[in-house]
Amino acid sequence: MKKIFVLLSLLAIANLFGQEQRFQGQPPVNAVPTDSKPVQKQWKGQFAFPDQGITFSNEFDGARLNGLVQNNDSTYTLLITSENTPINTSPWYAFKVWGKRPMTIDVWLTYQADNKHRYYPKLSHDGVHWTALDSLRYVEIGKGEKAFGPGSLPEKVKMRLEVGPDTLWVAGQELENSARVNAWMDSISQKKFVTKNTIGKSREGRNLNLLSIGDTDSKNMIMIISRQHPPEVTGYLTMKSFVETLSSNTKLAKKFRKEFTIYVVPLMNPDGVDNGFWRHNTGGIDLNRDWANFNQPETSAVKDFMEGMVEKTQGKFYFGIDFHSTWDDIYYTVDPELHGNMPNLVSTWLDGLKKRIEGYDPNIKPNGDLVPTTVSRNYFFVKHGAEALVFEVGDNTPRDFLKEKAEKGAEALMEIMLERIKDIP
Ligand SMILES: [Zn+2]
Repeated sequence: MKKIFVLLSLLAIANLFGQEQRFQGQPPVNAVPTDSKPVQKQWKGQFAFPDQGITFSNEFDGARLNGLVQNNDSTYTLLITSENTPINTSPWYAFKVWGKRPMTIDVWLTYQADNKHRYYPKLSHDGVHWTALDSLRYVEIGKGEKAFGPGSLPEKVKMRLEVGPDTLWVAGQELENSARVNAWMDSISQKKFVTKNTIGKSREGRNLNLLSIGDTDSKNMIMIISRQHPPEVTGYLTMKSFVETLSSNTKLAKKFRKEFTIYVVPLMNPDGVDNGFWRHNTGGIDLNRDWANFNQPETSAVKDFMEGMVEKTQGKFYFGIDFHSTWDDIYYTVDPELHGNMPNLVSTWLDGLKKRIEGYDPNIKPNGDLVPTTVSRNYFFVKHGAEALVFEVGDNTPRDFLKEKAEKGAEALMEIMLERIKDIP
């Protein structure tokens, strides 16, 4: 009896621990005004230290480095600030550094008041291939106690870097600026059933590009978007694998594209991404708060596109998904009691995903409070009846697991939607 009690107590503690460790999700989103606000543009140039032969630079798209001081021959302190305030704790940074000769330097990353270090440093020698900094070369100061959120973060960090004539790139995540995203879109549009075109322009005149995958006269449509928030690269990478699976040469994907056409806006906020912003567009607004007001060109372009397609085809969007990144993997879904064009598609799908990945238990947070529409998911569901969700991936989710979830998720979705469309007259 005693033994059983001990066992039960241990189980209870383990369970409590498990719950504490699981990300509980963000509090409900409140509607906010989305009229444009000023943003502070970053000074661009080189921070050069000729005596040591060391140069730092933020002269590339996606860079973020706002200030720098030399502490001694081999130590530098960097300041990273946001485009405006108030702002989410998602302090993006990216810079290049090189030296006339090989040397070891210490670089402190510090942030504007009330902000902390979030993104684990990644290094590259070509801006394309990235590896995480060796943890032995990384020191955190003033780390919070919490498991997730700003309370889990250190105040500042020190990186020990090897620099030399070969430029070293340092960034919070893999650098996926608009040039890189466009190159991916161009490569996938080599397929004869994929086209790339522009549905609008950002405030700074960058194209808002759309991929159309399948027959653009089809009445059965799905909508995919990502990167409303610039630093959310893991969400973008997941979207990429998801879209690659939907446009692959498998029997399933070919069959799916006969029934459904897929529309994708992979880079919702090209200005924010290329300016190295933490969260907003160049109107100073969180785009994922503008899906009721449509004050910003990026959100309006998608609205006009989707409503235009419904008008043109007299068809429907059956599914809408918006990829993001946060503290840990989570799915923000619509309350399954609420029915759109393919009732319970999302819950059936996440169930299918769970079955396909051994030991995987998706963290799902449904929400039934959808008006005003404010966020993309609510707009997709309320305006179009598209079964919709926000697919959030952790900042540190291993990249091969992102890919697995995306590929298996896309396969499960195609199977379920092909089955369900048979019942729709
Ligand atoms: Zn986001």
